[in-house]
Amino acid sequence: MSDLSRPAGPKIIAVANQKGGVGKTTTSINLAAALVEQGKRVLLVDLDPQGNASTGLGIDVDDREYTTYELLLDDIALDKVVMKTSYDDLYIVPATVDLSSADVELLSAEKRSFLLHDALRQTQIDTFNLDYILIDCPPSLNLLTVNAMIAAHSVLVPLQSEFFALEGLSQLMMTIREVRQSGNKELRIEGVVLTMYDKRNNLSQQVEHDARSNLGELVFKTVIPRNVRVSEAPSFAMPVLSYDPQSKGAMAYRSLAKEIIKNNVA
Ligand code: ADP
Ligand code: MG
Repeated sequence: MSDLSRPAGPKIIAVANQKGGVGKTTTSINLAAALVEQGKRVLLVDLDPQGNASTGLGIDVDDREYTTYELLLDDIALDKVVMKTSYDDLYIVPATVDLSSADVELLSAEKRSFLLHDALRQTQIDTFNLDYILIDCPPSLNLLTVNAMIAAHSVLVPLQSEFFALEGLSQLMMTIREVRQSGNKELRIEGVVLTMYDKRNNLSQQVEHDARSNLGELVFKTVIPRNVRVSEAPSFAMPVLSYDPQSKGAMAYRSLAKEIIKNNVA
């Protein structure tokens, strides 16, 4: 069944949480790879100046000629900034440290919150025939993250199964409400995914309980376990789905991808 609520074109999901180290980049890379495994064509936009998503997918810093910075601030065609990865049907717009100055430079730009929105809606996007665009956001609720939320159809929130996990969530939800009022009325919450979950740890269980009782259906059934294979994969420049396809981490991201595909047609 086709999704009548959404116009044709890729579904754009911003992966956001202003806390660092909660699994945004890990989720962006592995969810992208898992969606590709399900037969989808995916573009990952690296919106973090640290460029970890680009590195994690094996894009050498020296090869990052055009980046998210140029996509936002220079008038550059999409096919110049989109790079193929070594995986079929998986594309990336890489980032470098240059992007760290973008947040300030954006301030003086006209339509400063809409730059990514407009860039991703160039007609050229059609030539890639994408099903999904994932945006790996920086650990901040700055103008870059706002650009991601204005550009996106939905926000996916990784929540680390740690003490204080839910702290900061109200601020994130407030930003989402502000974005709805200031230009993206239709912005939805794709869901909250618990990351680095350790089922033997009471704290993980407590965080899960609190998240599910506070957020209900918004929390994905799938939880991403803490799994050493997940943390090793980026140093081999691979998604865990390629590095160790049968690992618990790979299987969890596969299951998350299936939930997201289902979300789309529900
Ligand atoms: P963020 O992008 O939110 O800053 P990352 O995705 O970079 O967070 O993750 C932070 C650290 O946690 C990284 O070193 C990453 O390898 C590790 N990590 C993330 N998810 C897992 C997991 N499921 N199991 C083990 N380590 C993980
Ligand atoms: Mg990151």
